[in-house]
Amino acid sequence: MITFQELGLNQDLLNAITDLGFTKPSEVQEKAIPALLNEERDLVALAQTGTGKTAAFGFPMLQKIDVNSRTTQGLILSPTRELCLQITNELKLYGKYCKGLNVVAVYGGASITEQAKQIKKGAQIIVATPGRMKDMISRKLVDISKIEYSVLDEADEMLNMGFYEDITDILSYTPEDKSTWLFSATMPKEVAAIARKFMYDPIEITVGNRNESTNQVSHEYYLVNGRDRYLALKRLADANPDIFSVIFCRTKRDTQKVAEKLVEDGYSAGALHGDLSQNQRDLVMKAFRNKQIQMLVATDVAARGIDVDDITHVINYQLPDEIETYTHRSGRTGRAGKTGVSMVIVAKSEVRKIKSIERIIKKQFEKKDMPSGMEICEVQLMSLANKMHNTEINHEIDAFLDSINELFEDTSKEELIKKFFSVEFSRFYDYYKKAKDLAVTDSSEGGDRAPSNNETRYFINVGRKDGYDWMSLKDFIKEVLELGRDDVFKVDVKDSFSFFNTDKSMEKRVLDFFTDFKYNDRFVNVEITENKGGGRRDRSGRGKKRNDSKRGGRRSSDSGNRSERVGRRSGGPKSDRRRSGSGSDRPRRSRRK
Ligand code: ADP
Ligand code: MG
Repeated sequence: MITFQELGLNQDLLNAITDLGFTKPSEVQEKAIPALLNEERDLVALAQTGTGKTAAFGFPMLQKIDVNSRTTQGLILSPTRELCLQITNELKLYGKYCKGLNVVAVYGGASITEQAKQIKKGAQIIVATPGRMKDMISRKLVDISKIEYSVLDEADEMLNMGFYEDITDILSYTPEDKSTWLFSATMPKEVAAIARKFMYDPIEITVGNRNESTNQVSHEYYLVNGRDRYLALKRLADANPDIFSVIFCRTKRDTQKVAEKLVEDGYSAGALHGDLSQNQRDLVMKAFRNKQIQMLVATDVAARGIDVDDITHVINYQLPDEIETYTHRSGRTGRAGKTGVSMVIVAKSEVRKIKSIERIIKKQFEKKDMPSGMEICEVQLMSLANKMHNTEINHEIDAFLDSINELFEDTSKEELIKKFFSVEFSRFYDYYKKAKDLAVTDSSEGGDRAPSNNETRYFINVGRKDGYDWMSLKDFIKEVLELGRDDVFKVDVKDSFSFFNTDKSMEKRVLDFFTDFKYNDRFVNVEITENKGGGRRDRSGRGKKRNDSKRGGRRSSDSGNRSERVGRRSGGPKSDRRRSGSGSDRPRRSRRK
């Protein structure tokens, strides 16, 4: 076992390490520390969150800078204020025996003059967010012209958040011959480009699996009437049975209200906002981390620093005022090499905002149709079927099988399956046959594919779990079938399965191809489904008008009462629901204060 001492760290640092209780270096530390101590070279390190990257660059930097000088020698850029503060605190702990050390955090939302004052006292290391750092430079409040070491921490995250230009700009004020150390959880091509641009012959370190995925987060928006926001939210949740999400609202009040309604409607939801006590917030976060809460409704401020890795969806219940806030929000998903979806519920008047966000984040939004009731029923059913298929049999039930078998003695397998699924299906069906159509016609939209009866929609048994997002699945299908660019559309990826459309004329080709098709040692199964995808068919009125849409048009109290309570979880064990329910009970009490 290698020790910190063997990595070549000095006594001051070793003493701090002892105090911290670190017994041995983590993998990224073991690889990076000696390399950085022994050479004046650039470095690119890929390592997931929580692998100890701060110390991997922090220890060498602390050892190499001159604490007797008041010149700023190290600059660390990090994506958020929370990380910035976190890194600063860690560095102070690591350097507690380095006499004269001054580490200053520079981030937005706090007094710039105060930060400038601290820097003036002589900060050898500055830890900064790109936005505020740029401000400081342009106001000449900081001098980074003598930097020897610069660190780009969480580089993928910074680029996700649209900081490319800020970073380029900041680095142009630093000397050519400094060393640059880049740390990132993933290596999308944007990060590779930065590495190429700013670094010379870097040492490369990879810890664990290298992740190649380029587009971690896809962006979608759903157009609805402003007053239907809540119903839309529920629908999005129902259409994604395995959702694990953060839902962003603009105000504390809305946050609380939405969370309460979700809980009432039987979802496992909780609220996180600034009117809750620290203790209440900790409890909600703990429940969320443990996945007892699937939908965390939060304000932007409260959600900062949420470092949960496997969030599948971020839902913008309302768009934020600042575009930068949108990037913070969407950055909560697609972390640690996983893919994620950022969904926005928008009213017509806000569509323009989507366009400006697209320009800033340099990514396209996909305009998606609200899933129709029947689509949701199908998704729920297929999800249940998949779960059932994958469930390991618990032989504890063997003891009761006799009486169960007796009960179903005269029931055929086919009938049994139908009955079993009807239990779940009827719950959603009964709700959605009454639910109104949420689709809003956007007259400005022209180029979209018209609804057509010449389309075929397919079910395919691969999904997000297999590492696909809509783009990569589309590519995959196109590739194996050797189809053209627009031949596969309306690709909708769920957790363990997906849907896509092709022209009806390709039906045979698709089905033939996927008969007994194996990929990565597993059968990929494709079937035709009845839905065409998207709510569009209902909206256009061209398709068969189901009687539900007639009833749906009635705005009646039944949409607010009993029939609303289709909570996805209500089929689950009672105790489960109660647990999550009480989680967000607490917030309710605090509001009355
Ligand atoms: P990353 O930046 O890779 O996400 P951090 O640097 O924030 O990870 O470290 C995560 C946590 O692990 C921190 O609380 C840190 O104090 C702790 N840590 C770092 N290195 C070690 C180590 N060698 N032994 C034990 N804990 C460590
Ligand atoms: Mg870190």
